[in-house]
Amino acid sequence: MKICTKCIYDERIKGISFNAEGVCNFCIQSEALDSQYQPGTKEGEAKLFELVEKIKKDGKNKKYDCVVGVSGGTDSSYLLWKAKEWGLRPLAVHYDNTWNTAISTENIRKITKYCNADLWTYVIDNKEADDIFRSFFLAGVPEFDASTDIGFAQVLRDACAKYKIKYVLEGHSYQAEGLSPQGSNYFDGKYIADIHRQFGKLPMKTYPNMTFTKFLKSILFNRVQFIRPLWYLNYNKKDTQEWLEKNTGWQYYGGHHLENRATGFLHTVYNPQKFGIDNRNWSLAAAARSGIMKREEALAIYNTPILPDPELITYVQKRMSLTKEEYEAVMNKGEKRSWRNFKTYKKRFETWRPFFYLMAKLHRVPMSFYLKYCFPMPESK
Ligand SMILES: [Zn+2]
Repeated sequence: MKICTKCIYDERIKGISFNAEGVCNFCIQSEALDSQYQPGTKEGEAKLFELVEKIKKDGKNKKYDCVVGVSGGTDSSYLLWKAKEWGLRPLAVHYDNTWNTAISTENIRKITKYCNADLWTYVIDNKEADDIFRSFFLAGVPEFDASTDIGFAQVLRDACAKYKIKYVLEGHSYQAEGLSPQGSNYFDGKYIADIHRQFGKLPMKTYPNMTFTKFLKSILFNRVQFIRPLWYLNYNKKDTQEWLEKNTGWQYYGGHHLENRATGFLHTVYNPQKFGIDNRNWSLAAAARSGIMKREEALAIYNTPILPDPELITYVQKRMSLTKEEYEAVMNKGEKRSWRNFKTYKKRFETWRPFFYLMAKLHRVPMSFYLKYCFPMPESK
């Protein structure tokens, strides 16, 4: 099997190609971003501060000038601090799906306190949250945690509308997380509603679903822009964690995605066991690519099996009200479905492609949204 000579992506990655030196297209793409954003250089810093000044100017006379979504994880905690350091007045926003680990709840408290930032949390009814996770589990689709991503995105936009804020700072770093290869996963608000309608038991009352109308309203009337400041910085996750621990009392939760039990279950149990998907390769490839980790070391970690925490599995079974037998029936013999088996907005996003292209150019939807949602997705193998 062919493996990229720079990172650890191999031939199994969808859409991969290699140049004459054996370097993959994701590494080349990352190099292109380096020359565009110039992280860690004077030029990159200048570009970032130009943005920061614009945010300050647009937020003048308002209580807050930007929103930072916080999860208790490394990237968002750090970004909140940086925003403060740059002289911004961020509102920290959290969508609580009620499956947080105690560590991440504490982390959110500690980092907002350290930064002296206000926190706006939206909490879904916990029984309703369990019912939505259970319906995704019973539906047998790989996007177990989609309701969190969609709910979080909606809550960020709601906070902007409430406080008339024009900017959302996103804690994404291509250096740390890499550019995720276009997989076969997909989700949107209609998908969540349809799965819950078919497999759920409780009415959807407190879940902040993102309907097409709400999405459009936010884009056209609230005109929120999405910015990724970490793209301009030389960002090292490990150093950042040490800094957070030393200065804020923040605590590491033991692994990428493990700050929440739903994401933890998705990445360490559900996806690897039911679908044979191992998403550790994104961040490992990124670490090898940027030289934070030796390529051999990243490969070695990637080749060790994922060890699930038995307590996590018991917890998930209990929250989904499933007996051990019911749980195992779905995991081992249950049907595997995909987003193509349910109702979604996909066709509508594709029809509206020119509109969303314009909106992406104006930063009102992320460019990644335009590229993934507005084009037909290749059928999976
Ligand atoms: Zn590569």
